[in-house]
Amino acid sequence: MDTQSPVVSRLRSAFRSGVTVPEQFRRTQLSKLLSLVKDNEQLILDALHKDLAKPKFEAILSEVDMVINELHHAIDNLRSWMRPDYVSKSMAVKLDTCFVRRQPLGVVLIIGAWNYPLQLILSPLIGAIAAGNCAVIKPSEVSAATERLLAELVPKYLSQDCYAVVCGGAEDTKALLENRFDHIFYTGSQVVARSILQAAAVHLTPVTLELGGKCPCFIYGRVNTMAAARRLVWAKFFNAGQSCVAPDYVLCSKATRDTLLPALRETLESFYGKEPQTCPDMGRIMSDRHWTRLMKLLERSRGKVVLGGESQQEDKYIAPTVVVDVEEGDALMEEELFGPILPILTVESLEEGIDFINRKEKPLALYVFSEESSVVNTVLEKTSSGGFCSNDGIVYMTLPGLPFGGVGASGWGHYHGRWGFETFSHQRACMLRGWALERINVLRYPPYREDNLSWLRWTTSAKKTAWSSCALM
Ligand code: NAD
Repeated sequence: MDTQSPVVSRLRSAFRSGVTVPEQFRRTQLSKLLSLVKDNEQLILDALHKDLAKPKFEAILSEVDMVINELHHAIDNLRSWMRPDYVSKSMAVKLDTCFVRRQPLGVVLIIGAWNYPLQLILSPLIGAIAAGNCAVIKPSEVSAATERLLAELVPKYLSQDCYAVVCGGAEDTKALLENRFDHIFYTGSQVVARSILQAAAVHLTPVTLELGGKCPCFIYGRVNTMAAARRLVWAKFFNAGQSCVAPDYVLCSKATRDTLLPALRETLESFYGKEPQTCPDMGRIMSDRHWTRLMKLLERSRGKVVLGGESQQEDKYIAPTVVVDVEEGDALMEEELFGPILPILTVESLEEGIDFINRKEKPLALYVFSEESSVVNTVLEKTSSGGFCSNDGIVYMTLPGLPFGGVGASGWGHYHGRWGFETFSHQRACMLRGWALERINVLRYPPYREDNLSWLRWTTSAKKTAWSSCALM
């Protein structure tokens, strides 16, 4: 069955008209999106505060400015991204023009999560517009204020024939997924990703999955303890720990843990004061459901809370919390925490830490803190993760030049910068041939002959030494 909702039909007609293809159209829409964000910065900040009590500082850095930077990068580079890539050729096709041409995929669907409700919708949309697609965007219903704002602003700024916002929860998204799309870009949990894949399978629609998981922070060897504590605390408790790339747990030796703990205590106090609940820089847990989930994990943990631990359900507050004596099988290690709880597990050697990481699903991000470059390089060499950052957390994802995405269970595919443009493009292999050299083509036509085969093997060989290795010479 090929359901077409009126919204998707409208976008499909616009796509078929070819209106989204010219560079000027893409550029204009990207510029209008830039105006949307700039003109409405205060409304955006208010919505993010309403949804997540997101401090202005964090909202600007991780939502508003990330989108603005991505937009400038896309506008500046659009022309070069759209240029065909000419490829190297074998002797057999020397007279042909061979290139990769990027073409838009069609009508794409972008589904976002609630933790960065603006950025997780608009950043992929930049890639979709730059690549010349029409797009349906489906913000998370959980971050309701930002969802409402996007639904109000997007039609005011962008072409309504080409871009649409659909609001709603799981049931509405399931109904939307019955439509045929040309690509689905999904950000969210691994559980829901499975239903997205099932829906996509019906139409054989390609899917990008931006998922989560447990991102380790491995501290090993010589470290600047105070700097490590500050960088770790900032990356972990930013957005109240609700970042897909937040360090989920720390792995370190017992000795490192014992020197780290006082530094963590001092850092937490200097960042959030003695009563973090009253600190405007500390965010809140998104919903009652997530608050209860986190508190149950904490209750079931056999670890020892050494810092924080206070909570208040009415305020959806959980203090920045550090737990030690956590074993591999502990409740806190069962699932992505996605909240302000930091378990510390101990390993006594580099190999033990690497084995621990490799026993788990491949994480979205892996952080290594060490002053020893041999430690950093060994972990980089011997593990796999979506992204990797030494001696800091989160910040690597702000760079449009780096692909952002997971590997294995933490996600499929990439975006940010050119990577988003590529995700929403079809890389079409093109060979433009003329009518010359039919005498050479004769070599491949039947009746097949051994000497012709040798010639063909030589002319199609990729080896640089093709001339000297010619069988007939
Ligand atoms: P979620 O999977 O519950 O929801 C995400 C989106 O899916 C929402 O728009 C929601 O409406 C929709 N949805 C929910 N249930 C659905 C269903 N049954 N069928 C179809 N659609 C459905 O995820 P979440 O709780 O919003 O986000 C948290 C997760 O997202 C965490 O695991 C986090 O790590 C991950 N995440 C990943 C990234 C990334 O870039 N890799 C970024 C942010 C969050």
